Amino acid sequence: MGRVTESAPLDVDLALLGGGGAASLLLAALDRHGVHDLRIAVVDPVRRRGQDRTWAFWGHPGTDLDPLLSASWQQVEVATAARRRVLDLTPLRYAMLRSGPVYDRAAAAERRLDATRIVAPADTVTDDGTRVRVRTGDGHTVRAGWVLDSRPRPPARAGRTTWLQHFRGWWLKADRPVFDPTRAVLMDFRTPQPPRGVSFGYVLPVSDRYALVEYTEFSPDLLTDAGYDAALAGYRDLLGLDPAGLRVREVENGVIPMTDAPFPARPSPRVVRLGTAGGATRPSTGFTFSAMYRQADQVARALAAGRPPVPQAAYPRRHRWMDAVALRALDRGGVGGPDFFDRLFDRNPAERVLRFLDGVTTPAEEIAIMNSTRLLPMIAATAGDAAHRVRDRLRPTRPVPAVPPAVVGAEPSP
Ligand SMILES: Cc1cc2nc3c(=O)[nH]c(=O)nc-3n(C[C@H](O)[C@H](O)[C@H](O)COP(=O)(O)OP(=O)(O)OC[C@H]3O[C@@H](n4cnc5c(N)ncnc54)[C@H](O)[C@@H]3O)c2cc1C
Repeated sequence: MGRVTESAPLDVDLALLGGGGAASLLLAALDRHGVHDLRIAVVDPVRRRGQDRTWAFWGHPGTDLDPLLSASWQQVEVATAARRRVLDLTPLRYAMLRSGPVYDRAAAAERRLDATRIVAPADTVTDDGTRVRVRTGDGHTVRAGWVLDSRPRPPARAGRTTWLQHFRGWWLKADRPVFDPTRAVLMDFRTPQPPRGVSFGYVLPVSDRYALVEYTEFSPDLLTDAGYDAALAGYRDLLGLDPAGLRVREVENGVIPMTDAPFPARPSPRVVRLGTAGGATRPSTGFTFSAMYRQADQVARALAAGRPPVPQAAYPRRHRWMDAVALRALDRGGVGGPDFFDRLFDRNPAERVLRFLDGVTTPAEEIAIMNSTRLLPMIAATAGDAAHRVRDRLRPTRPVPAVPPAVVGAEPSP
């Protein structure tokens, strides 16, 4: 590994600011594409390792992620009070990836790439158009040809709708077979719905006795610690699981922004933002992983070909507009969340909906998707969104709300 001293600046080709999800996928992609001749620095106050999140995502099988998966399912269930629908995802599959193997693989790639690790926050970033100067919290200076920045940050300005996806999950160990490992529950809207927002539960089984069971809300505000526990216990009961035969092995909490606020992906000529900071979080669902993975591959391929490390936008502009309209319709009460998702899955093949949520559908497929939503509230939301955009242009300086930290409760008893 390279060394960095306080007095001499460290010159590198590539500085990764933030070493979390996006950077871990990027390090693995650089290694996979044989980008071994670049000088790389990774700046993060934390060395991420072990289990701090579980990624669920869909995609085609047969990628480099396959050996890292904890589980994958060909079938998923979407449930509402009215019906339980089983979707066959072929040729896609839904998959679960725990953070530990992702961070381990990134650490191995980092060693092979001979990257320099600076365990400190990146503070100031100054781009003069040919090189970027990064000052770190421990007094170091890094001069980089390109900066790939995935540090969490607020959007450039406030969104017209600002929601949060917030959740708590329990890894449940059962004393007898109670889960169906052949099938995941993608969204179960039978949970009591909040006054403003959408809630659902989901189940990701890795065996017939072990599963991640989560309660999620899309809404403006977080719950309390007791509120998450009560909601999750309610969902466990709804699933018919007897708490006496279950043990909570781990707890997972999280908050993800769901907003139409802009996350600039290229704030200056030689700084590229990745991950949630770069707009990889889909506003209407909070799903981020597939876009991060796609962009990591694009950046690595570009560098391997001697091109600038600039990926395509995480989602096409028309998808961001459709998400803004959908979020508005959900927020202003024009459309009920369970009804919205129920109709999407009812009137479209599952594969089309999932590819749409990944931002990779064609315009013709998107028209079919839009036609499956309730037209009048969507037209009202479209008009409201257009009027709001005009107002924003005239009065653009609303304060940007920060994404609050997740509510973390006591550790589960063993
Ligand atoms: C618990 C949880 C579960 C999730 N599950 C899913 C899922 O199932 N599917 C999905 O698609 N998405 C999911 N997401 C959303 C998204 O995929 C993750 O948040 C993902 O980790 C985002 O990657 P990132 O690199 O943008 O941010 P992070 O992984 O949060 O990485 C940001 C890094 O920046 C570092 N940092 C902070 N400040 C500084 C600084 N000043 N200088 C340098 N580094 C700094 C942090 O230490 C961190 O390592 C989940 C998120 C959470 C929190």
